[in-house]
Amino acid sequence: MNKEQYIKAVELLNLYSYHYYVLDDPITTDEVYDKLYHEVLEYEERHVEDILPSSPTQRVGDTVSEGFSKAPHLSRMWSLEDVFDSDGLQKWLIKTYKLDKNITFYCEPKYDGASLNLIYEEGKLTQGITRGDGSVGELITQNVKTIRSIPLTIEHKERIEIRGEVVLYKDEFERINQERAAKGEAVFANPRNAAAGSLRQLDSSITASRNLVFLTYGVGENRLEHKLLSQRMEYIYSLGFKKPPLRATCKDFDEIQAVYEEMNKNRDSYAMMLDGMVIKVNEIAAQIDMGYTVKNPRFSVAYKFPAVEKITTLKEIVLQVGRTGAVTPVAIVEPTNIDGVIVERATLHNFDEIDRKDIRINDKVIILRSGDVIPKIIKVLTHDRDGSEMKYERPTTCPVCGSELLDEGVLLKCQNLTCEARVINSIIYFASKPCLNIDGLGSKIVEALFESGLVKSVIDLFDLTLEKLLTLDGFKEKKAQNLLDSLEAAKGCDYRRFVNSLGIEHIGEVASKTMSARFGSSFVDASKDELVALDGFGEEMAESVLEFVRVNRETILKLQEILRPLEPLQREEPKENPFKSKNVVLTGSMSESRDVIKEMLEALGAKVVSSVSKKTDFVIYGEDAGSKYDKAVDLGVAVLSEQEMREKIEQA
Ligand code: NAD
Repeated sequence: MNKEQYIKAVELLNLYSYHYYVLDDPITTDEVYDKLYHEVLEYEERHVEDILPSSPTQRVGDTVSEGFSKAPHLSRMWSLEDVFDSDGLQKWLIKTYKLDKNITFYCEPKYDGASLNLIYEEGKLTQGITRGDGSVGELITQNVKTIRSIPLTIEHKERIEIRGEVVLYKDEFERINQERAAKGEAVFANPRNAAAGSLRQLDSSITASRNLVFLTYGVGENRLEHKLLSQRMEYIYSLGFKKPPLRATCKDFDEIQAVYEEMNKNRDSYAMMLDGMVIKVNEIAAQIDMGYTVKNPRFSVAYKFPAVEKITTLKEIVLQVGRTGAVTPVAIVEPTNIDGVIVERATLHNFDEIDRKDIRINDKVIILRSGDVIPKIIKVLTHDRDGSEMKYERPTTCPVCGSELLDEGVLLKCQNLTCEARVINSIIYFASKPCLNIDGLGSKIVEALFESGLVKSVIDLFDLTLEKLLTLDGFKEKKAQNLLDSLEAAKGCDYRRFVNSLGIEHIGEVASKTMSARFGSSFVDASKDELVALDGFGEEMAESVLEFVRVNRETILKLQEILRPLEPLQREEPKENPFKSKNVVLTGSMSESRDVIKEMLEALGAKVVSSVSKKTDFVIYGEDAGSKYDKAVDLGVAVLSEQEMREKIEQA
């Protein structure tokens, strides 16, 4: 590195830091940052006279951003020197032993989150401050108070600064990202950025909703008198702060290396992300003697774990169709070794995410793989583009069956009932209780029927025979006959059950009922306007029905022919009775569920509505009837007890 390259490198590191610390949205990996940082450090050791004051080696990383008020720390907060392998550790130990030979070491995890300083006065939490530039940080007390692992009061009454890292557990990170992806919001790159971003929210209810966790690693200003750091930390934990998943005191290199290897081996099983192990001189008197460089304590070092984020190239985007028909994009990347595992595929969440991040084929991307976190593309390095990148077009047809896809932005779905990727699920749904309620057709049996080749689509169910079923493992005559009987019994079902059983996206029981009542079997010819006009229907539901019919018209018609569901209008005209064609309102609790009574009245030709008006003919009341009863009396509407209603029905 020459001077010109040195100046450029410092500029680039500062740009990286700005994106990392201020925007919580890094544009490169820690590995790339650390490598360049160490090149800069080496140059500076050889050319002390060239050191730029803006060099990241001269200051603690973060800058204080606008938006929060600033607050000074009582004592400085530091960064950490880091080493990456056992050679680096050896060198650090030699350097440290030169300062003091009679030392031992305290080892604990290096948590990957955002640093936080807590000030307690007279046992009460008074301030929470981010690290900022080490001397001054952002005052975020309100947000900090929402974090449950931070005690608001402690038994220690002297003023003390408790230091630690705010992290987001990996499962919580996945949960938040899934929720954000489903809502079409940008997902967080990694748990560290998510934690830092969540901590620095201007609205503390957002911070509260993120389930952040505080893990302490030390103290700032204090008047504690422990001789050893290990004793001091036990005291801090006893005040109500979380303990690390692993901590140890070590005598020498071999012991430190053994703890490091154990921690690294187990890192995936810990709830939080770790990016290394921190080694600290255990004797506090020795720590004080060793003191600090401009940036780091001399008595401490971060022994980093192998990187979990790497830069690679996106080669291709392939499509995966899930059991429900949801189509998700999967990235195929240049095979990359991440901590011993070759990663070739990574999730892209959904198609909106591809558009939002403007992900193109041939892009350089940052990929994250860490234990139970699914490998994912977290960043596109747009500044590295050379013109060879190609835009990705959203698919319009299912990669498995070729039929048209339902496209709702975040959700892309194949609704083809006979698509191989989703047929098993379609049949399970078709047979379920709120649909055709076909006994003996649970998920295991559907899978067996599909795998044997006997059933390739819902329609094939009705071609099953005793002989065919008896060829299946575990099917004796009785079981087979029962299934055939249940299939037979499904014939002549209500039309609304039939519609519900089709599993049209967004069309559940209520919408199926509405649609059946209005159109019956001619729902396949309903126009968008007619659908949108239905009670409780919106554009999305109407589009979904239209797309479903375009793809499945033939299957629907065939199924209709086989099942002959009862057209709502085809039902027998109810006999004359006092409730026929009357508007009825139910209120209060009855001897049976109101749904049952509602169905009974509907079968008599009544229209059961929810609110009382002048047009209401009867209000039928149960126990604890409230305002509807009063309103009926006010309006002079006839009121009947449940018992009176039943008597009238019997008389009729
Ligand atoms: P650091 O994160 O490497 O280490 C210091 C911090 O570690 C402390 O402030 C503390 O908050 C935290 N920490 C966690 N566990 C700890 C423990 N047990 N004991 C003590 N401290 C503990 O240092 P830094 O100055 O915050 O950041 C430098 C690092 O940040 C770089 O090594 C790099 O990996 C990363 N970085 C990345 C980019 C990027 O663009 N990807 C940019 C800037 C910095």
